Amino acid sequence: MSSLRDVDPEIYRAILSETERQNGNLELIASENFASLAVLEAQGSCLTNKYAEGYPAARWYGGCEHVDTVESLARERAMKLFGAEHANVQPHSGTQANMAVCFNVLKIGEKMLAMDLAHGGHLSHGHPLNFSGRYFQIIPYGVRRDTETIDYDQVEHLAKEHSPKVILVGASAYPRVFDFPRFRKIADSVGAILFVDMAHFAGLVAAGIHPSPIPYAEFVTTTTHKTLRGPRGGMILCRKEFAKRLDKEVFPGIQGGPLMHVIAAKAVAFQEATTEEFKTYQKDIVKNCQTLASEFSRSGYRVVSGGTDNHLLLLDVSVKGLTGKDAAAALDRARITVNKNLIPFDTKSAFLASGIRIGTPAVTTRGMKEAEMKKIASLIDRVLTSQEDSVIQSIRREVETLTRQFPLYAEKIREMRQELQKAGA
Ligand SMILES: *Cc1c(COP(=O)(O)O)cnc(C)c1O
Repeated sequence: MSSLRDVDPEIYRAILSETERQNGNLELIASENFASLAVLEAQGSCLTNKYAEGYPAARWYGGCEHVDTVESLARERAMKLFGAEHANVQPHSGTQANMAVCFNVLKIGEKMLAMDLAHGGHLSHGHPLNFSGRYFQIIPYGVRRDTETIDYDQVEHLAKEHSPKVILVGASAYPRVFDFPRFRKIADSVGAILFVDMAHFAGLVAAGIHPSPIPYAEFVTTTTHKTLRGPRGGMILCRKEFAKRLDKEVFPGIQGGPLMHVIAAKAVAFQEATTEEFKTYQKDIVKNCQTLASEFSRSGYRVVSGGTDNHLLLLDVSVKGLTGKDAAAALDRARITVNKNLIPFDTKSAFLASGIRIGTPAVTTRGMKEAEMKKIASLIDRVLTSQEDSVIQSIRREVETLTRQFPLYAEKIREMRQELQKAGA
């Protein structure tokens, strides 16, 4: 990054510092991951210069022959990876992918059943300030009090009562597998479209260790940067019969020119996701998460729904007399990054919350396994048991030792350290 260093030292330094932060912290935010250097290179390429409104072989601008190659590869790889009939790789984010599907199948004011945000649903599934909550009538469903898993009887009841046009399945903080056949049956019983947002668990689906929604849903959206480990972005998969209309909804419906550099990086990530290493990686993510869950249960915490089937867990920290907000802040001081999260039927506000969400995609990318998970669970427990400065300082040192054993972008980091010394920062 020598050009950046010369042209804009302030941004250069901030990027170096962020690289150091990512390398030295324990990243346990369930929606984050570390993309490969190949993905970063594609995303940092000259493709950012190219306007390519339209789709391969049907563009509004000249000079698109190479970006056509890129987008065609990205689409074909996505379809093959997930066994889908059609892929649109242009959405700039997961929220925009959801917006395209909603605008495509719903008229303003029409009804959609979606997971309650307080039970793990996502902002783009009906938050009153989001497009979804502002333009459509959202009917929320949630989890059962006793099992903290989706209340399918409630979904069925609400579907019968409201006859929604769409049933949306997916969440940002749900540690269990979704029963797609059951959702399909409910959708069919009221003539609704089934729309699955697999943003969080798409990597597990790609690796074949989580049921695939593709055979059940008319539309499937995802982000490409979570478990899937690609660049920040979105994607939509659908049946062929909806392809044309959907493509029009993305462009010109809700977006202008596609981000061709990001689409190239998506193609790289889809290719990486076909490898045996990726399958092993996804299995390790789940194994690691289950190890964390059982360690926390053993130390007297309450793990929401009693465990996890995927890459994340929800820890009820109220049993330690803490709010999620205070727990996340204390962990942050120890260089352990998580986020506060509502737990089902939380008695606290979203601002305070009773839980924290913990995910293993990022630490698993670094190569951490069961032994490190036991260590991490104990570090977290010690911080949550005593937030004294001396305790935090000693955990911080242990985190630094642990992360040093699993360096991220090892070669790059070494180069950057040398650059940083030369720059005198
Ligand atoms: C993360 C997430 C999204 C959206 O992601 P952005 O790219 O941040 O817009 C959509 N749906 C679900 C369920 C998510 O978890």
